[in-house]
Amino acid sequence: MKINIKSLISPNIRNLRAYSAKEIPCRVKLDANESPYGFEINADILKATTTNRYPDPEAKTLKKIVSKNLRLNPENILFGNGSDELIYYLIIVFGGPVLYPVPAFSMYGIISQALGEKRIEVPLDDEFDLDTDRILSLIKKEKPRIIFLSSPNNPTGNCFSADRILKIVEFTSSSVTGHWSLVVVDEAYQPFSSEKGFLPMLSDYKNLVILRTLSKIGFAGLRVGFMIADSEIINEVNKVRLPFNLNSLSQSVAAALIKDSNIIKLHVGLITSERERLLNELWKTKGIKPYPSEANFILFKVKNSDKIYDRLLKKGILVRNMRETVNGCLRVTVGTKKENNIFIKALKEVMK
Ligand code: PMP
Repeated sequence: MKINIKSLISPNIRNLRAYSAKEIPCRVKLDANESPYGFEINADILKATTTNRYPDPEAKTLKKIVSKNLRLNPENILFGNGSDELIYYLIIVFGGPVLYPVPAFSMYGIISQALGEKRIEVPLDDEFDLDTDRILSLIKKEKPRIIFLSSPNNPTGNCFSADRILKIVEFTSSSVTGHWSLVVVDEAYQPFSSEKGFLPMLSDYKNLVILRTLSKIGFAGLRVGFMIADSEIINEVNKVRLPFNLNSLSQSVAAALIKDSNIIKLHVGLITSERERLLNELWKTKGIKPYPSEANFILFKVKNSDKIYDRLLKKGILVRNMRETVNGCLRVTVGTKKENNIFIKALKEVMK
């Protein structure tokens, strides 16, 4: 008899759908919230990387540079192979239920399901902001161990109101309410935002964790994300971290290139000003409703979104079809001026 592999798979994985990250051939790639600006890796950086030894398990050099740039204590930082990996680790360490607003970054749900943890999805309000009343009452009822809030939020692009985030952090950190949860503010898109983010609050709330990544500022190919939290949380998460999760090349390239933060700031400035121009152009395009953005992408609503997506792709332009999360919407990543012009021209043509 042939072995039935399916019967060996745990039920939560059997029903799981893999994160869709297909390589779709295109001329202009505006689907994955990457930076359009990459960096050259010079021979000195490559020479400094040894191939026969394991990488530094603690990524000490990189940690020193990141902590200096963000004025943090190195003991409050932990690196992951992308922040995705840290989401995994956090759910392994703290367990569920896991609460997050929807629409949200899909990995919160995928990883929770993979690990067999209960998911509590709370719809955002009409302004794509947090429905705090509903969230607080679900905290009381369901006692989530982790709450993920991505701000700026992917895929909607807005920041959640800081006072609403704070209300949730306070509610879940107080011995008066007795409801303790870890609140993870995922700041993957923070560099593009006009808001100051939650790093300044870290010392006030022990249950607050911040996730950051280098993926959106030109280093998606290196897979470097990091979490910032109280050292007790860092030490617990470090217990499940795979010993050499950040490879030598990523460590040395990131360390060498983020030292010069001016060039990164320049790229971020170009992207945010292009974002505003793109938003304006989308507003002016009949039949399109764009949503304001504090990130490096714009969500927009359009009639016949599937058709528009296909027609753009036929012209070689790849955006993200949000069919499964925000019905009728497409999400476009801000590219270079030239790429954005190609996208706008093509969009105006396919809308006719
Ligand atoms: N958080 C959010 C909100 C994201 O949109 C993404 C990437 N799409 C990530 C985390 C993961 O980033 P990475 O694993 O590349 O660091």
